Amino acid sequence: MMLRFALVVDPVASEDRRHEFSDTFTVIDPAAPAVQVGDLSAQRGDGIFESLGVVDGHVQEIEPHLARLANSARLCDLPAPHLDQWRAAIERVAAEAGPGESAIKLILSRGIEHGSAPTAWITLAEAPDSAGARTEGVRVVTLDRGYASDVPERAPWLLLGAKTLSYAVNMAAIREAKRRGADDAVFVTSDGFVLEAPTASIVLRLDDRFVTPTPSAGILHGTTQRSLFAFLERRGFGTDYATVPAEDLVRADAAWILSSVRLAAPISAVDGRERAVDRTLTDEINAYLLSPRD
Ligand code: PLP
Repeated sequence: MMLRFALVVDPVASEDRRHEFSDTFTVIDPAAPAVQVGDLSAQRGDGIFESLGVVDGHVQEIEPHLARLANSARLCDLPAPHLDQWRAAIERVAAEAGPGESAIKLILSRGIEHGSAPTAWITLAEAPDSAGARTEGVRVVTLDRGYASDVPERAPWLLLGAKTLSYAVNMAAIREAKRRGADDAVFVTSDGFVLEAPTASIVLRLDDRFVTPTPSAGILHGTTQRSLFAFLERRGFGTDYATVPAEDLVRADAAWILSSVRLAAPISAVDGRERAVDRTLTDEINAYLLSPRD
């Protein structure tokens, strides 16, 4: 994604400066060096982030993203983000977004090695063109995530459920999917249950019920999935968090991968088996997801 604008945020700006948050941001050239080589985000991927969709200058779902940022910070023992400061920074960045779709990324790093303070910044980028994925759909392969469904409880230090900057595994899974001739991956547990895609949530339609894997299974609780469930409930559909066997990816009447910037991409094949795509419903879902949402 081409970066268009960036702000460094000072997350430890003293309380007395915080009444004027704009004092705690610095506009930087997004193409110039800005992060120190000792920053633990660069050295160890030790930090957290959020990606927010922006449509015609409107930032979607700011509060759910900030709540998840705060939750990730808690899981990672990072200082609690100052949410009013982040709201103000998002507003400042959004003012630079033109018409069309863009993406805002919030990054909170543990900071410089041996330093005492976290570092933080925000970027604005043009969103990649997702038209093909939204209409034609994506072909996925299922990939073993390498752990059983009880691991999140047994090993909280794996930080499953936190949106950490350590996405090397997620990116490797997408490369593996491409090597296998697909567009994307769906992680499954070693005992055969659906988790999530490397950068998206999974929602299935089973008759008139829409289901998604329960977030306590060690996945991110998607803001787009939550927003979609609210939309579907308003239309009278049932929605559920469930334990989803991998076979349901093929058996379901329809299946989507959902995320803040690509939005809803119908799944058109699973491990080389074609599956039906509901174009009409997908178009309605994406029209909703593109409308201003708070
Ligand atoms: N799961 C993972 C691993 C992700 O990276 C993302 C997207 O950022 C999601 C799920 C979907 O979350 P959201 O809908 O909030 O973008």
